[in-house]
Amino acid sequence: MASTLFDLTGRIALVTGSSRGIGRVTAEALADAGATVVLNGLKPERLENTRAEFAAKYGEGNVAAYAFDVTDGDAVATAVTAIEAEVGPIRILVNNAGIQYRVPMLELAIEDWNRVITTNLTSAFIVGREVARVMIERGRGKIINIASVQTDLARPGIAPYTASKGGIRNLTRAMTAEWAGKGLQINAIAPGYIHTEMTQNLIDDEAFNSWIIGRTPAARWGTPADLGGPAVWLASDGSDYVNGQVIFIDGGMTVVV
Ligand code: NAP
Repeated sequence: MASTLFDLTGRIALVTGSSRGIGRVTAEALADAGATVVLNGLKPERLENTRAEFAAKYGEGNVAAYAFDVTDGDAVATAVTAIEAEVGPIRILVNNAGIQYRVPMLELAIEDWNRVITTNLTSAFIVGREVARVMIERGRGKIINIASVQTDLARPGIAPYTASKGGIRNLTRAMTAEWAGKGLQINAIAPGYIHTEMTQNLIDDEAFNSWIIGRTPAARWGTPADLGGPAVWLASDGSDYVNGQVIFIDGGMTVVV
């Protein structure tokens, strides 16, 4: 029973920003559950290296890679059409691509604000809308937006990131309001502090590192692998009546002060 509920065999999953970090590990978890994964990133060489590693592990037929900018509406539309024609029907979308930019708000340029909001929030609308069009035609699909503990909590120095991740919560709800009745389930995963390239500088900062460990009930950083189980669940039939939720995977950080 359980293996059927969480089995993704034959389902095609597009994971944006999956050439490294959380996106890559999420794609691995989906592939481990049987999905054919479509990888994405900006830098073609890094993406091709990741694709080759997936192909070696899961087989050439179970992975594809498309380099495109998730903030470029035309590029996204072209890529989704190509994926549907060349790989097959997209059943699962993970809107993961994102960036961080740390500057106090009084020194923050409007261009930098816009860049972070566009990459982290508008991209989920652009890719989500394009993929939802074809999912709705088929009457089924799963969209997982990657949020953050900054969906709930603010910290100084990362205003556009915090605003973008708060926006992801309500974009997830807006998608649910419009598309859940057409057979789609849209939810978000909110990772806590996860050790990736994006956060390596925070781990190297001894004071910040010990603050995180003290602030987290689980008393450790998360690993990208911690996100795999919840991602498979939200991508599978096991979550067919879960709609519009943000699932925090943060070692308990957002439930304590
Ligand atoms: P990362 O290691 O910096 O990787 C970012 C990925 O996104 C790369 O594959 C990058 O491609 C891709 N990307 C960036 N801009 C893109 C664009 N415009 N178009 C297409 N791809 C783009 O980041 P990460 O730490 O894994 O974070 C991934 C997601 O998780 C983000 O949404 C982030 O906000 C969220 N998150 C991370 C943490 C954490 O602790 N790390 C916690 C909570 C939430 P290239 O390699 O080609 O640049």
